[in-house]
Amino acid sequence: MNALEIKENLLSKKLLCSFFGHNLVIKRNVTPNFREFECTTCHLELTNNAKGEKTFLTPHLRDVNETLFNFYNKRHHLV
Ligand SMILES: [Zn+2]
Repeated sequence: MNALEIKENLLSKKLLCSFFGHNLVIKRNVTPNFREFECTTCHLELTNNAKGEKTFLTPHLRDVNETLFNFYNKRHHLV
């Protein structure tokens, strides 16, 4: 597969998602209220914010989730 084919493939997947919506699966439970999601079609990563809305998983939010995850697990003696 050459670079152009990869690009077209990725583009058609993104198009598919824009037509039918993302096919999200839970990638990780950060806490019972915070989860990370990934689209199985285009591999877009999302997370939910404090309001429960889905938002893009930015490097900043990934850090926040990591902190939450560690804090939650320590507090509940899971680690
Ligand atoms: Zn998608």
